[in-house]
Amino acid sequence: MPPVFRFAPSPNGLLHLGHAYSALLNFQRARATGGRLLLRIEDIDATRCRPEFEAAIYEDLAWLGIDWEMPVRRQSEHLADYRAVLEKLSALGLVYPAFESRAEIARLVATREAEGPWPRDPDGAPLYPGDSKSLPADERARLLASGAPHALRLDMAAACRRVGGLSWNELGEGPDGERGIVPARPEVWGDVILARKETPTSYHLSVVVDDALQDVSEIVRGQDLFHATAVHRLLQVLLGLPEPVYRHHRLICDSAGRKLSKSSRSTGLRALRAAGVTPAGICQLVGLG
Ligand code: GLU
Repeated sequence: MPPVFRFAPSPNGLLHLGHAYSALLNFQRARATGGRLLLRIEDIDATRCRPEFEAAIYEDLAWLGIDWEMPVRRQSEHLADYRAVLEKLSALGLVYPAFESRAEIARLVATREAEGPWPRDPDGAPLYPGDSKSLPADERARLLASGAPHALRLDMAAACRRVGGLSWNELGEGPDGERGIVPARPEVWGDVILARKETPTSYHLSVVVDDALQDVSEIVRGQDLFHATAVHRLLQVLLGLPEPVYRHHRLICDSAGRKLSKSSRSTGLRALRAAGVTPAGICQLVGLG
């Protein structure tokens, strides 16, 4: 079976040099290995994703000379797949509704931090501080029946107990030089969100489901997602999904050494193209020339 690669941008802004690097690496790996390259549009966040950004993704990638297999998978069209998997995890007793609003969570974190340091995840966000997991069953049922808004969270401690030790095969490099068989510690993320009140899935859940459904065998993506891989491995094992290999790549930074964001105009592919930079020039700018 030829290896399967994917580039999976979110259409919530215009692509920049960092996306170009990731897409080009995937394209080159697929070429070099006789593999397939898929394009997946990660558009579950209806409040931030826009059709014009999706159209720009197709245009910018084609301009770079990248081609991908059709059809493109758009996550927003597959919510039923994610729901089915959530039900599997619920049936294992690993999911619970969490009723706190964002504002309440911020207040709870502030209270905890007043007492001492409160743990943060690898992205720097405070771990879930709420106690919805230990709500008495009748209180939980009453809140659900009343239609109280809630997110669905993974009971991380129970999930970790169920799977035991986890690792992944890193063919690239983590931010601290990690490579080879890397131990996965999903517990550092706390009780991650699996579905939000306005979106019946989450990044972690949909990425794992799609990579498996699309037979993705080698995941080439930025080091900003290196630590998230621990959660992905956990979900893969819980759901009995195949294990891909991972190749995390360095991030392209701006002249001040900061990771690029979709709002940093000067490194946007559109802006560079308008300034006369060619696709070959983009390759050079990201160190692939
Ligand atoms: N959609 C994610 C992003 O744009 C990438 C997901 C992934 O490669 O796992 O950052």
